[in-house]
Amino acid sequence: MKKTRTRFAPSPTGYMHIGNLRTALFEYLIAKHDNGDFILRIEDTDQVRQVEGATEIIYNTLKSVGMNWDEGPDIGGNYGPYIQSERLPMYKGYAEELIKLGKAHYCFCSEEEIEKQRQEQGESFVFHDPCKNLTPEEIQAKLDAGEPYVIRQTIDHVGSQDFDDEVYGHIEVDGDLLDEQVLIKSDGFPTYNFANVIDDHQMEISHVVRGNEYLSSTPKYNLLYDAFGWERPIYVHVPPVMKDEHHKLSKRNGDASFQDLVAKGYLPDAIINYIALLGWSPENDQEIFSMDELIQVFDTHRISKRPAIFDIDKLTWMNSEY
Ligand code: GLU
Repeated sequence: MKKTRTRFAPSPTGYMHIGNLRTALFEYLIAKHDNGDFILRIEDTDQVRQVEGATEIIYNTLKSVGMNWDEGPDIGGNYGPYIQSERLPMYKGYAEELIKLGKAHYCFCSEEEIEKQRQEQGESFVFHDPCKNLTPEEIQAKLDAGEPYVIRQTIDHVGSQDFDDEVYGHIEVDGDLLDEQVLIKSDGFPTYNFANVIDDHQMEISHVVRGNEYLSSTPKYNLLYDAFGWERPIYVHVPPVMKDEHHKLSKRNGDASFQDLVAKGYLPDAIINYIALLGWSPENDQEIFSMDELIQVFDTHRISKRPAIFDIDKLTWMNSEY
């Protein structure tokens, strides 16, 4: 059987809040429950949206609660996290491999051409890429002339796409409505989706655990696994942590962080205990858990589908009813 390996893969686009820490905690518990590995990967391919200092907060928070990652590049005798911006040539190599397999292609369309199609098609817009019909000679000529391009995945009538999620169950979508997604952008950087899939495969991640806002992108990720002939991971999408019935906690606003709770006098162990119960419940009515106990009893099937609401001012939480 495959070793259980999970990863926490934050984009450093804001400050880590309690919801992010809870995702990391669930990932850590799933790995450690099976004596597996927990990995930290910084997804920083969108350089424009980065927030200075965000990465340091992630390291420090994980370390303060004892959630150490199990591997990574050597930095002075310690494991650093994997950092996507340090792995750029690898992603390009994989995109070129897909081109050779006939499952990706160069696209030279300008924004204006794409926008024209969008206007013509209206709401149910799916981009039909005319560049798929270019001959190898035409492509070479454009490349030689230095025309800007992106690399897109080629999707030819894939029909219905389905997958199972440990929390949300069976999910099915019409694959023919999925865009031929960009894999490599015109600046040579991989797209967020592409780098994410390549790394999950490369790092032999068995369980992909992340916020449920990624459920709708998962069929696209699956098409990439299929294009390479790779085994798909087990998916565990978790509901958000909200600050009230209508608003999710936000990284950009610096909402409810671990540091805020420490400043209120809570000990790291108590904070971990507290956030484990945000959207997850044990089989019995036990309320106080050490990390070791959580590792022993944690079970993905007891993660709730519904968002949890966490009010830092009143320091109350509830698992919402809607
Ligand atoms: N990088 C994503 C984020 O910070 C997480 C994606 C994932 O875990 O697959 O929201």
